[in-house]
Amino acid sequence: MRLNLVVFLFFSTRILVAQDNYPQDAFQSPLEIPLILAGTFGELRSDHFHSGIDIKTQQREGLPVMAVADGTVTRIKVSLWGYGKVIYVAHPNGYTSVYGHLKKFGPELEEYVKKVQYDKQSYEVEMFPDYGELKVTKGDVIAYSGNTGGSAGPHLHFEIRSSVSEKPTNPLLYGYEVRDATNPTVLGLFGYPLSDGALINQSAKTTQINFTKQPDGSLLADKVSALGTIGFGINSFDRQDLAANKNGVYSVKQTVNGRVYSEFDFETFSFGETRYINTLIDYPYFYKNRQRIQKCFKEPYNHLDIYKSLYNNGKIDIEEGMSYQVELLISDIEGNITKLIIPVEGKREPQKVAKDDNRTDDFIIADKPNNFDLGAAKVYFPANTFYEDFYINLKKGTDTIAIHDNSVAAHRNFTISFDPSKYPLEERKQLFIAHLDEDLRPSYSKTYKRDGSFTTRTRTLGTYTLVRDSVAPTIRPKNFKEKQWLSNYSYLSLDISDDLSGIDTYSATLNGEWILMEYEPKTNTITYNFDDKILNTNECELKVTVTDNVGNSNTFTSTFFRK
Ligand SMILES: [Zn+2]
Repeated sequence: MRLNLVVFLFFSTRILVAQDNYPQDAFQSPLEIPLILAGTFGELRSDHFHSGIDIKTQQREGLPVMAVADGTVTRIKVSLWGYGKVIYVAHPNGYTSVYGHLKKFGPELEEYVKKVQYDKQSYEVEMFPDYGELKVTKGDVIAYSGNTGGSAGPHLHFEIRSSVSEKPTNPLLYGYEVRDATNPTVLGLFGYPLSDGALINQSAKTTQINFTKQPDGSLLADKVSALGTIGFGINSFDRQDLAANKNGVYSVKQTVNGRVYSEFDFETFSFGETRYINTLIDYPYFYKNRQRIQKCFKEPYNHLDIYKSLYNNGKIDIEEGMSYQVELLISDIEGNITKLIIPVEGKREPQKVAKDDNRTDDFIIADKPNNFDLGAAKVYFPANTFYEDFYINLKKGTDTIAIHDNSVAAHRNFTISFDPSKYPLEERKQLFIAHLDEDLRPSYSKTYKRDGSFTTRTRTLGTYTLVRDSVAPTIRPKNFKEKQWLSNYSYLSLDISDDLSGIDTYSATLNGEWILMEYEPKTNTITYNFDDKILNTNECELKVTVTDNVGNSNTFTSTFFRK
């Protein structure tokens, strides 16, 4: 009895019941260094939840990355974007570990990947080795950490997925040790009047609510007066002990007078639902302030499966003359909890702040397809492009059109079709559909040209026009000169760039034979590794051809010597 009590108390310090469902000793660390995180699972990112943990690599690349358990490599991908160079290892216990943004693969895998790259004459490749073809043993060095793909600094992106459902799970549920005795931080608390006529502190608009820290560490909000159906949202982050990084929190629970109204956590989610993050956060606020408020209530168009508990969809009906104690419990995965108490009084008061009048000439009914002719271009929104009905702000033009702004998130691609007939044929070849940012800087939107119409599919709202790119890409050697002896060189590197439409394809040959050039768009660099050893003459002719997205092409040739 006594022993049971001790065990119970031990587990009760952690809020995680979920952890019991995951193997605790199956996986070793993928790195030799202590786990210090630059990102947590479920962290709020652009249009997605973070599907793994980002492990800091001491601002360096090239740290050995180890298989966390015995298994077999089921997938390898090399991509300019996303995970960059990535390995998937399936383990017999039903989980798959994923290692992303790698600099290079371990010797055996590197050879395997290079062969495919030379066969396909492409840097970007994806392969699905047969089960058992590429076996790995726990602790094997399978790769070296890097910064490839959509990574803003050296780190290892590490995931553990269910091999069957492919759902990513929180890697910290598997017994990994991350030092964290620090409670989550709340930056802001917001009240949302939801029903018609609902008010919070006499405002019909989203209202920021101040709070102060109490002696016991909890946070106490200023007394709120309200009437009607309301909801709350918070802007928060979690810091671990050994780094200053502002990471995501694990769970948010909302109670009203002791009853649980909503609770969500980041134990797992599916890639199919991840974009619905745009319904969890206050999207217009994010557009304006670049900070993400998580709503403690569930919108009708929110299809996320992260909720452990929901009553009235987390919305609170405030009645006149009643008092409510709303509590938000914000927790990290180690069970450090920040409690925020919000006292609410049901009061009938005159409205001082009205809702913004957003009415325009055009109203979107989200579950119906919508077509608009904006002069220079036509826009087609398929049904369910958007999460909710709203007044859309459209600007017609003879050259440039504007489709609302990005305070509204699109869930699905919509189509913009420009009529290029007023441009001479020669010029048309060099035109592309460009999205203009707030400073009117153009960026290429993938343009399909057919039947006298230029079309793009996008989820980005805003300003679009046709832009002409008549300048071919530039190609400059970075570490060698014409007619140079390069016997001691281990690699060749060149700078390739294109200022308007951007680089579409590149290729290189040495004495007429295709060579693999690794491309890093973040530094405009392509690199050839002399280890690939396809040279057998002293005099070598290098030829590099780069083509931009409208077909302007440039070729660079250079001769060097090597023995
Ligand atoms: Zn990551």
